[in-house]
Amino acid sequence: MDQQTVMKTDEQYYMKVFARYPIVLSYGEGPYVYDSNGKKYIDFLGGIAVNVLGHAHPKLVAAITRQAGRLIHCSNLYYTEEQASLAAKLAEASGMDRVFFGNSGAEANEGAIKLARKYGKTVSPVKVEIISAYESFHGRTLAALTATGQPKYHKGYEPLPGGFKHVQYNNLEELKNLMSPERTCAVLLEPIQGEGGINMPAPGYLEAVRDLCDQTGALLIFDEIQTGMGRTGRMFAYQTFGIRPDIATVAKGLGGGVPIGAFMTTDKIAAAFAPGDHGTTFGGNPLACAAGNAVLDSIAEENLLANAAAMGEYLDEQLTKLKSKYPQWITEVRGKGLMIGAKLTKPGRDIVNQCLEQGVIINCTAGDVLRFVPPLNINNGHIDEVMAVLDSVLAAQ
Ligand SMILES: *Cc1c(COP(=O)(O)O)cnc(C)c1O
Repeated sequence: MDQQTVMKTDEQYYMKVFARYPIVLSYGEGPYVYDSNGKKYIDFLGGIAVNVLGHAHPKLVAAITRQAGRLIHCSNLYYTEEQASLAAKLAEASGMDRVFFGNSGAEANEGAIKLARKYGKTVSPVKVEIISAYESFHGRTLAALTATGQPKYHKGYEPLPGGFKHVQYNNLEELKNLMSPERTCAVLLEPIQGEGGINMPAPGYLEAVRDLCDQTGALLIFDEIQTGMGRTGRMFAYQTFGIRPDIATVAKGLGGGVPIGAFMTTDKIAAAFAPGDHGTTFGGNPLACAAGNAVLDSIAEENLLANAAAMGEYLDEQLTKLKSKYPQWITEVRGKGLMIGAKLTKPGRDIVNQCLEQGVIINCTAGDVLRFVPPLNINNGHIDEVMAVLDSVLAAQ
């Protein structure tokens, strides 16, 4: 099929829920992807913070290929070495005791919310409320969607599940006032808000939330679906803040593009789940876990945490230069590691489209924040390539 036919066929048969860019992607290598006409793009969106190793990483490809030829799926009625070793690695990397695998971010959050509710009920039948933040994003299933503090995602899906409340991110007073030792079962936050516009926690905010949770007996759940897997220069963003949540969720980068998500917690909290209380058919199957193992091994072997931190600093510096050069378009550069946003003075749509025409893939989140979440194994040269194009696009605004 040529590009036009692919786009026309998709338009005709696929649900009209995505606003897509007019290109048909075909294959990739490292930080580059190619469309079906062979045009090359440098990919600084990385499948929305998913392709942490870039495209077609040899170790990931080999792991998936080998596993596909052995055992793709066998259900969770049996043990597999791939699942056991990935669970052990994630527990070790996160400082948690226990892990559960699902297939996506939303499912990971859904599981975390279910576990928090079960745990709250061990204290009191009314300790069920989940507090999350405005401008957050937690996924599209009904509970995760309800936790997502953006009314546009709720519209039309009412009645929504009960027991969810929202506060302004970074507003400690508001959270303090809303938290109740009787009713609050968990506070669910992204350590850095992704979809909401790369919003950073104010200094001391997350630490203070941790204290509030301890005082009220509420669980602290960190949604690390976008920030996790080395994105911010540590395996999990909370490790930068020197605190540990009670439950952490991860997905996006975990399988390097193969669908897998997880939630992790302590032995004490995990004990609220009895056999049969939660489950999944596909979650944690050997194919997805083989991918997860290859990703974690590669992050360690290739020193990708240090690289993400160093490249993140360089990208931040270069974007800050563009901000000085084009103060009429960029007002702020923010983020951590390779999760960086450039706040614009206007909607980012045109800039993103013009970058795409010139072979650079980025996107815009929250309407006016250019988002950079590239693979963790990029180098300075890749950043320079993207900056040269962005410079020329900004000059033409
Ligand atoms: C992407 C994302 C999700 C949802 O993940 P899906 O795999 O799309 O369900 C949840 N939380 C955060 C912070 C995300 O970035």
